[in-house]
Amino acid sequence: MSLAPEVRGHARVKDVLERLLERDRVPQSLLFVGPDGVGKRLVARALAQALQCEARSAAERPCGRCRSCRHLAEAPFTVEEAVERRQDLERRQAIERGTAPEFEENVRPTPDVLVVYPSRKKGEDGAAASARRAVLKVDQLREAGAFLQEAPFEARRRVAILVDAHGMNAASQNALLKVFEEPRSTSWAILVTHQPEVLLPTVRSRCPEIAFGPLAAEDVAAALRGAEGDAERLARCAALSEGSPGRALDLLREGFLELEDALVAWLAQGAPAREALVLRGALTGKERTAALALRSLMRDVAAARAGVAAEALRSPRHAEALAAVAAGPLGARAVEIAERAAAALQALDANANVPLTLDALLAGVPAR
Ligand SMILES: [Zn+2]
Repeated sequence: MSLAPEVRGHARVKDVLERLLERDRVPQSLLFVGPDGVGKRLVARALAQALQCEARSAAERPCGRCRSCRHLAEAPFTVEEAVERRQDLERRQAIERGTAPEFEENVRPTPDVLVVYPSRKKGEDGAAASARRAVLKVDQLREAGAFLQEAPFEARRRVAILVDAHGMNAASQNALLKVFEEPRSTSWAILVTHQPEVLLPTVRSRCPEIAFGPLAAEDVAAALRGAEGDAERLARCAALSEGSPGRALDLLREGFLELEDALVAWLAQGAPAREALVLRGALTGKERTAALALRSLMRDVAAARAGVAAEALRSPRHAEALAAVAAGPLGARAVEIAERAAAALQALDANANVPLTLDALLAGVPAR
């Protein structure tokens, strides 16, 4: 048996889960913790498959061949796939045009698997995925609680997966805690989050943690193979992704290099305030990526000021412009600005107000 062979890396995590499966000792509520976009949700799906697999020997699960395994493998798992499967043309077009209202959805790939997704603005999907504030609505979690308290419909067991579980409010967490404390013998819950510290301590103590780390650079690069883009673009997005293929794909989609070009042009002019307003338009919806680009560029400026060779910079194609910035008034404050950008990134990852954080960051770069 091998769990989630399609997901790169995470050998230790898979090993731990496989051993729990073999002994049929998988805890009934689990917390999957680790960076955004590294494959936690896909491993959760594989675990659901293994828990429901009908193969006689535990060592064979998930077998990939039984009715239950095939059913889940073929079923829609994301909101997009669910909408597509329903052939909900009107909604699909609204999503494509970006005019769909903000909505959330619980996806039910099979009668005995429930996936709770945070609400988000559709149409901005991808573009704002990395910068969104996750919110799991009370009604969604009520459905999840009821789902876990009912007997399976056709499978051996029921599994609920809560994506971005840190988006639950305290009342919802307390309501689910009761379900976690006295689980029905046939129900499992997997909470997936990159911000476990936001969850109530009572919930965390109930849900053993499975920690996912960042992927190795070659795994991220391999995951990007097949994505569109020239070699430089792919390499830079992979390098900046902090070991997360999901983040690397966000950077690609959001046009990281173009965004960086716009920031370099602005810095080269001495970061004029009125231009910052125009720049702000180009960065809307890509705030996290913008903060990441600014941090990378200002670190390059600091490096150029310290005499680091052009080809050793993160962005060698901007070496000339960055050297000029390093020699100017911004050069003396490069380290400070890079630190501000790093702090902004942290704030964004901790669900800070997105537009305000970037506005503060741009305003914090001293204009000439
Ligand atoms: Zn099976």
